[in-house]
Amino acid sequence: MKSVFSRSAAKELSNERLIRIQLAAAYRILAQMKMDDLTYTHLSARIPGSDTYFIYPFGLLFEEVTASSLLKVSLEGEILEGKESQYNRTGYVIHGSIYKKRPEISSIFHLHTIAGVAVSAMECGLLPLSQFSFHFYNRLAYHSYDSLTLDYQRQGSNLAEDLGQKKAMILRNHGTLTCGKTVHEAFLYAYFLEQACKVQCKALSSGQKVIVPPKVICEQAAKDVHDFEPDFGIRDWGALLRKLDRIDPTYMD
Ligand SMILES: [Zn+2]
Repeated sequence: MKSVFSRSAAKELSNERLIRIQLAAAYRILAQMKMDDLTYTHLSARIPGSDTYFIYPFGLLFEEVTASSLLKVSLEGEILEGKESQYNRTGYVIHGSIYKKRPEISSIFHLHTIAGVAVSAMECGLLPLSQFSFHFYNRLAYHSYDSLTLDYQRQGSNLAEDLGQKKAMILRNHGTLTCGKTVHEAFLYAYFLEQACKVQCKALSSGQKVIVPPKVICEQAAKDVHDFEPDFGIRDWGALLRKLDRIDPTYMD
């Protein structure tokens, strides 16, 4: 099969199949970047405008995910297609609650990287120390830790409420969450947030006094980095899919 980055190949696929392939690619790419956490954390994608989304079955490693192994789930967490060995309620509460509240969002990434969890435990939150972090300047939500997210009514709605209209959130003492209108947008926010957290951990652990640019410059940088990418993430995503196709195209199975 030709890469889904090829427009002629993409035209031959149904919208649903294309979303499955894109999401499976995201799991594989994050595994290669070592941004996974055994069988915990989850990425999801929905067909834009629909009330169902795709997510991996609890128990797979990110590196094992294929397009056909993904579950199709309703916003209430009912499994419509596919099977899993253990019902993953926390995943469905997190993803379903945000999709319900944000109809324009079609992809959500939730991660537990060490750098992301470390910054989530810092009282100062994410500091504007690097160009990676300027993507999130005055654009990052915070959610206080509240044990495992098992309750749609209280925890799910609180999570979606705290995210508001933003596209990235630090889950205190837990990890990170990013979202976007596309898989590639959610991916690039996840990548930049990870890089920003890594830089902050390294810079603060050096013991050196850090430089924080003036607020007006940080705000200008936040605008500029977003204006620079009209379809946020598409260029890098295409490059990563080409790399994935060279290494192991079985994600499309
Ligand atoms: Zn989590």
